[in-house]
Amino acid sequence: MNIVRPIKSVDDLANAGLVSDRDRQALEEVAARYAIALTPTVTKLIDRTDAADPIARQFVPDIAELIATPEERADPIGDHAHSPVEGIVHRYPDRVLLKAVHVCPVYCRFCFRREMVGPQGLGTLEPAAMKAAFDYISSHPEIWEVILTGGDPLVLSSRRLDEITRELAAIDHVKLVRFHTRVPVVDPPKIDAALIAALKASGKTTYIALHANHPRELTSEARAACARLVDAGLVMISQSVLLKGVNDDAAVLADLMKAFVETRIKPYYLHHPDLAPGTSHFRLAIEEGQKIVSSLRGRISGLCQPAYILDIPGGYGKAVIGESAIRKSADGCFSVSDYRGGEHSYPPSE
Ligand code: SF4
Repeated sequence: MNIVRPIKSVDDLANAGLVSDRDRQALEEVAARYAIALTPTVTKLIDRTDAADPIARQFVPDIAELIATPEERADPIGDHAHSPVEGIVHRYPDRVLLKAVHVCPVYCRFCFRREMVGPQGLGTLEPAAMKAAFDYISSHPEIWEVILTGGDPLVLSSRRLDEITRELAAIDHVKLVRFHTRVPVVDPPKIDAALIAALKASGKTTYIALHANHPRELTSEARAACARLVDAGLVMISQSVLLKGVNDDAAVLADLMKAFVETRIKPYYLHHPDLAPGTSHFRLAIEEGQKIVSSLRGRISGLCQPAYILDIPGGYGKAVIGESAIRKSADGCFSVSDYRGGEHSYPPSE
């Protein structure tokens, strides 16, 4: 029987035939800096006949990760600048991130928190730190939404997740609980009845933001896992990263967004890659990203359109960076472009 095991090291990658002997030494250097993990589901998705396989590119380490550029930084979106207590990031008034765990089932090679996640990362919050995080949320009545991220919170056991959602359910002013995860795609069997029950905070609305970047990730097993979540009353939205060599192509991106909508997941964010160390081989020019995103308009339904987003380096929050369809013209009117590139005039208000 051909048993596929989790991959956690360069040796495991070599044994699985996913890296060449020539690269092993350099990849050990990569592994010393950034964690490696592939689930069996992801390993099986890799097309070994394709040297540029978009699934492998996301999860199999590359020696290009040893190249750090001057603009890259360890904390690209400025979490630390907005962390009042361990595990909490309070960047916007009405919502906080709760980073309970810094472990993931897979380690994405472009991860924006790659210096914080993995075995050498920030680990899991100790009980005293968890209590301090809940105390912080309780004592800030302006916090309407708590976003569990990390790391991937769905690596926690159902029992631990249940403890967290019970604590949040007891805080009146928290109305939304959101989990950011890759688990339904990279480990679909984990989405079972106990886990789904644990994700529901009583009296609150639970959102699941699924991270996936290529339509091949939405396998029938992944779609079935998402259906179990949606059928249980959880709302699903997507988040993807626009990545060179993975999905920087309008047709691929259109198929990804359609796959989300078919799975009852509303496309939400398409992130421009962050300035994480050793990830320049994934970054495309913002102008290229804008062109690809604009071409989705007219190609696929309005339901399938994500917002193209940049997290401003330094912790200043998100900005929508798609091309605008409307401009003020010299005569005081507006010039509006249609999805075919035609220009039309629209009058100013009286
Ligand atoms: S799952 Fe998210 S936090 Fe974990 S490695 Fe991937 S991008 Fe980073």
